[in-house]
Amino acid sequence: MLHVCAIAAVLLAQPSTAVDAPAPAPRVTLVRCGTLLAVPGQPPRTNCTLVISGDRVAQVLDGLDARPATGDSVNIREIDCRELFVLPGLIDCHVHLTFQQSADSRLRRVTEGPADAALRGVGYARATIEAGFTSVRDVGGPAEAIIPLRDAIQRGDIVGPRVITSGKSISVTGGHADPTNGYIGLAPPTPLEGVADGPDACRQAVRHQIKLGADLIKITATGGVLSVSTAGTAQHFTNEELEALVQTSHAMGRKVAAHAHGTDGINAALKAGCDSIEHATFQDAESIALFKSTGAYYVPTLLAGATVVENAQKPGYYHRAVVAKALLTGPAMTETFRRAHEAGVKIAFGTDAGIFDHGTNAREFQLMVDAGMPPARAIIAATVDAARLCGRFPGSSGSGEVGVLAPDAFADFIAVTSDPTKDVSVLRSITLVAKGGEVIIDRRTK
Ligand SMILES: [Zn+2]
Repeated sequence: MLHVCAIAAVLLAQPSTAVDAPAPAPRVTLVRCGTLLAVPGQPPRTNCTLVISGDRVAQVLDGLDARPATGDSVNIREIDCRELFVLPGLIDCHVHLTFQQSADSRLRRVTEGPADAALRGVGYARATIEAGFTSVRDVGGPAEAIIPLRDAIQRGDIVGPRVITSGKSISVTGGHADPTNGYIGLAPPTPLEGVADGPDACRQAVRHQIKLGADLIKITATGGVLSVSTAGTAQHFTNEELEALVQTSHAMGRKVAAHAHGTDGINAALKAGCDSIEHATFQDAESIALFKSTGAYYVPTLLAGATVVENAQKPGYYHRAVVAKALLTGPAMTETFRRAHEAGVKIAFGTDAGIFDHGTNAREFQLMVDAGMPPARAIIAATVDAARLCGRFPGSSGSGEVGVLAPDAFADFIAVTSDPTKDVSVLRSITLVAKGGEVIIDRRTK
């Protein structure tokens, strides 16, 4: 440690070359809003002005010509959304930003490495934010790819949504996230590669992803649809392993997202204290009661269900082990969603983007509405409730900074041509997207 301390001492001894000039006043942006849904769940306001200072919301003023009392008039910019409906940027709680399914996905697993995944992710990140999703929770990809991608976006080197990520999903041997499933001659993966059997190995796997920079932990509590595994969709980790995974994660301040399809795995993950269940396909009455008593979120991914059923019809698209599972799970998701929503389970919007093309995430809204959720409620799931599940994003000091356009929140907003709380289809063609007050894409007719 001596040499590190010596370097630190030299660095600290360097004279500061910074000139003490007053910091320039942050740029003020005035968004003139025909309609503004600042906080989904509360009534929208008409003919008002969203005042942004730097990258944060400052206030909302009545009137389309209002100006804040203070501020440097030279440094004011206006965005005209008088004819538009403005709402907070959308949040997708279940994406895979370093991956996009295609017929050759299995080959790419052994011909491409984490750097390829990160570089592919650059385009997927841009497609995601251009579709109006200004924040995402990435739940499974190589940590060596998704964590540098998250950080490059945070630095402003590339354009993309705010990202929190689990790094690599943690799986049992032969489970949904064992990367060697279906390949011959590959060495068995270790806890450092996210594959763990037994409580001690589970603890090491969690700690290693956190060491690499994971913001949360993702586990595969049951088998999954797209893995080349015939290990079914029932519970994989034992109850003892689930407890070790959750306790270790929570002790290090990380939430746990559990992928689960089978009833036994859903219920075991909820009993162990997981913070969200992804897919949660075969819920029973006990699952619903556990969701309600624990306060865990259900992340439905209806679009993933619809996509795998569609692709399973294409000859040769999926491995035969996958086709059977796709046809079993996909059709069950809609009815499960309907029952969970009616029972009052907390639902956060999530799609499984990467299973289908990034940038088409908003198709999920229509599936939610078709399964019985009112449009306004689906928007709450993709803003206020998604933000609650995600918690803290890089650069934020706490929750409440995404999913709303309240004072001190990030100025992440989208604008559309009609009221999405009446018809969600307009969310598939966003007119304007801004993140931190900066316009990312602008399709207004000039
Ligand atoms: Zn997924």
